Amino acid sequence: MGKILFGGDYNPDQWPEEIWDRDMELLDEAHVDTLTVNVFSWGTLQPDEHTYDFAVLDQILEKLAAAGKSVCLATSTAAHPAWMAREYPDVTRVDFEGRRHVFGQRHNSCPNSPAYRRFSVELARRIAERYGTGTHPSSGIIAAWHVNNEYGGTCYCEHCGSAFRVWLRARYRTLAALNKAWNTTFWSHTFHAWEEIVPPSALSEHWGGPNVTAFQGITLDYLRFNSDSLLQNFIDEKAAIREFSPDLPVTTNFMGLYRPLDYFRWAPHLDFVSWDNYPPDAQSHARMALTHDLMRGLKGGQPFWLMEQTPSQTACRDFNPVKRPGVMRLWSFQAVAHGADAVLFFQMRQSRGASEKDHGAVITHGGRSDTRVFREVAGLGEELESLAGEIVGARTHAKVALVFDWDSWWAVEISDGPSRHVSYQQTLIAYYRALFEQNVAVDVVPADADLSQYDVVVAPLLHLVKAGVAARVEAFVEGGGVFVTSFLSGRVDESDNAFEMEAPGPLARILGIRIDETDALAPEDLNAVVFDHVPDVNGVVPDGVGVRFAANLVFDLVQPGTADVIGVYESDFYAGMAAVTRNVIGKADMPGEAWYVGTNLDAGGLRWLFESVLRARGLLNCYSGVPGVEAVARYRDDVRYLFLLNHGEAESCVVADMGGVSLLTQAVISAGERIALAPKAVVILQSPASVDPPAPDVRNS
Ligand SMILES: [Zn+2]
Repeated sequence: MGKILFGGDYNPDQWPEEIWDRDMELLDEAHVDTLTVNVFSWGTLQPDEHTYDFAVLDQILEKLAAAGKSVCLATSTAAHPAWMAREYPDVTRVDFEGRRHVFGQRHNSCPNSPAYRRFSVELARRIAERYGTGTHPSSGIIAAWHVNNEYGGTCYCEHCGSAFRVWLRARYRTLAALNKAWNTTFWSHTFHAWEEIVPPSALSEHWGGPNVTAFQGITLDYLRFNSDSLLQNFIDEKAAIREFSPDLPVTTNFMGLYRPLDYFRWAPHLDFVSWDNYPPDAQSHARMALTHDLMRGLKGGQPFWLMEQTPSQTACRDFNPVKRPGVMRLWSFQAVAHGADAVLFFQMRQSRGASEKDHGAVITHGGRSDTRVFREVAGLGEELESLAGEIVGARTHAKVALVFDWDSWWAVEISDGPSRHVSYQQTLIAYYRALFEQNVAVDVVPADADLSQYDVVVAPLLHLVKAGVAARVEAFVEGGGVFVTSFLSGRVDESDNAFEMEAPGPLARILGIRIDETDALAPEDLNAVVFDHVPDVNGVVPDGVGVRFAANLVFDLVQPGTADVIGVYESDFYAGMAAVTRNVIGKADMPGEAWYVGTNLDAGGLRWLFESVLRARGLLNCYSGVPGVEAVARYRDDVRYLFLLNHGEAESCVVADMGGVSLLTQAVISAGERIALAPKAVVILQSPASVDPPAPDVRNS
């Protein structure tokens, strides 16, 4: 059944050949089996327009083949060669301020420049022809194709302007439809010819940066267009690879919670998802879990690759802490727990020069194997080797879904009013964290997902509501599901125009509320929500009445229609008005519920709210709420792999809900046995999945 792949980026062309043999010994010592090569080699692969030189890549692949490694082979198209910028100046990007860039950096090509499109596809084609046909001595070691690298950024050049107009014609067909969608009678913007439309930038609609636009419609469409432009580059390279390599899987490495690209639109074109995990700090466990779940959700639950993470530290931040002992291992297993079938690093040997010479690597400049980082990597490699035959391909079973919607992300953050302080990413992380703390499995799904397999669907900041989404939510709630959404949801249609009805627009009926006013205050101006009458659906008042939690940023003045008031504002002129409501709908035995959270509740408030919701639906388990401990499971055949991860600084102890084998120690664990978890500890408990998990009568704490 295979093993979890282990290794990462390897750039031996940046080092003298004399040390490659030593590298092979060190890679063996670290139990590395998979290397990503050729990510940034265009400058040597193609020294001029008419010459291709694969001599060094041949040597590298031969060396890796002889060493028994498998390879994720990249196409090298994320940084164009210097000659291309000199001979084809339009290959570089024009930035938001309208400045044409010259040669430099990486991720520097205009996605719509004819030169870039031609040369990138040709390079991918030649690499696939040389190594993908099975005739090259090294072709057998290729496990996957890695197109480009971390696609991203935006270009505002004339090529992009032309391509944007083509994209708009395909979307709207007529200028009348476009004018209506963009509401162009506002400020005399009616377009009478397609050529009048230019990219929205600091020179046109924007007056305060990329998020501050006079016309949301054109800016939103340019975000969609830019994502599609870069996607087209991927599609073109993949097609070139497919001419010679019909079967090997093709991917590109995503960047997790990355706003510029709508990864749900990309994912159908990838054979598997891979992503690079560089969290902003050491307290990002929930954020990383959310991102892993998002990456798994992009292809409907299919396992993904962790394509990059640093073994120790990054180099691009103002300060770059090293990962503390045990953290790299803990976070690697967290990725596996959430669906990763590969754990790869950037990078194997540390760069000698330029901007990544201080970026962490498995092998540092000294080339030693007796460093802390190398030993930890080798230890993890050995553990993953011991897990061969286990876990790979296993799936997650979730009854809770979180809706993630790039259109809403873009729309809510480019909106003029009511608040520029609302962050889609931070809000989604906050809601996810409240679920994460209860250790319930979460699938991250797009706004148009089939919701019928879930018990609870959480959709914070569902600001932009596309056609059909509200009907799907209504059917879900009427079928007995619990739907939770938040402030600023249901505000605009697909074109970012308000609905011709009161907020929350098409969601109003199912939520049973109306919103006439939305207050927005400085982040430091707090109000509070008092939950003082919170009957459950059977009219029973649970513990916790009278609790209050702080709230800030946005305050919807919620007018309940059919909804029950669950929490009210504590102060200001709307003191006593509804802030949190619940509309109970449908069947008496299992009524559906539609919750509205009209303000930015603090972490305690969200924790309290979701604990109530999950408890009422029987979704808490014996690992819910254990401080610092993450419990997450994957299932394959008749086996459950339960990962217990202690992210905390203190030892913790949990009671096993099922008996099984602790795979990393081979210890046999009985149901009900206490498992001690030292800080950073990882336990993988393998149990027969055909045994139903017991009811959550035993609570760990
Ligand atoms: Zn461009």
